[in-house]
Amino acid sequence: MLVVMEKGTSEEKIKAAVNAIERRGYTARPIPGGDRVSIGILHNKGSVDAAHFLGLDGVKEVIPVTKPYKLVSREFKQENTHIKVGDAVFGNGSFPVIAGPCAVESQNQVLSIAKSVKDAGAKLFRGGAFKPRTSPYSFQGLGKQGLVFLAKAREETGLPIVTEVMDVENFNLVEEYADVVQIGTRNMQNFSLLRRAGKSDRPVILKRGMSATLQEWLMAAEYIMEEGNTNIILCERGVRTFVRHSRNTLDLSVVPAAKKESHLPIIVDPSHAAGVRDQVIPLAYASAALGADGVMIEVHNNPEEAMSDGAQSLYPDQFVTVMEKMNAIHAIIKK
Ligand code: PEP
Ligand code: MN
Repeated sequence: MLVVMEKGTSEEKIKAAVNAIERRGYTARPIPGGDRVSIGILHNKGSVDAAHFLGLDGVKEVIPVTKPYKLVSREFKQENTHIKVGDAVFGNGSFPVIAGPCAVESQNQVLSIAKSVKDAGAKLFRGGAFKPRTSPYSFQGLGKQGLVFLAKAREETGLPIVTEVMDVENFNLVEEYADVVQIGTRNMQNFSLLRRAGKSDRPVILKRGMSATLQEWLMAAEYIMEEGNTNIILCERGVRTFVRHSRNTLDLSVVPAAKKESHLPIIVDPSHAAGVRDQVIPLAYASAALGADGVMIEVHNNPEEAMSDGAQSLYPDQFVTVMEKMNAIHAIIKK
């Protein structure tokens, strides 16, 4: 249920409505919009009687919410959520690009890649210090040392850092270094991790589970938002299908579908979807054409020697061309 206040309602009236909702045993969550405030009613067991709230001072209307997710839904908040990180804004119609290697391997590696992606126009730098690998024998990441290397890359380039947090245990550590924390596909339904991310003041990139429906994905985002963190960027990274010609199948149609259902920004990661760089490039162009709120792309200075995901990492000079063309496509779409 959503209690919509009149345009320009005073703070006192909003507070009074919140109190009236909470006196009935529900949680009231005010959601500021463009020119009006709405109050979401949460934690109701069964249906809520709109009549209880319609008569309150300053209440314009009471709308039933039909979706299982509430805070992340467009029913709750019509305006797009804008998330500002450094020079980038996700969700305002711009097209910020996050780029960097799959894994942090050394100080020189991240410095070299961070400088080249910055020169090409990337707005954020990515790199995993804690790597969720399918095999326990694969490179697991440098851990804290990797975070220190990322911090140095931020210091040298000014680019904010995106890095993955794999568990609650290391959340405090990752949060200390990261400007944006990433929750990977394998952890999309790790509910204790989602709740911890909800208590963070860092924006969260929530990647889609590799076989998650849009509804499951938005419910995962709801876990984060329910704890208070409203800065969530959805990231489509491909889903598992029957095909063998690519690592995953990039679900292009989920971008407009997610935008219809939710006010959260959605970016695309063509790298993990494709798995091979020849496919990453056209999928990056498609992401720009889709009206996504940005992309995240893996770039490596020496992909042949990369410790993970070398085959899908672009060479720095390829990335320069991809940036130019993505920006040109985005400019046409924006018109
Ligand atoms: C990554 O971005 O480094 C990563 C591991 O991605 P995903 O969780 O989508 O596999
Ligand atoms: Mn990777």
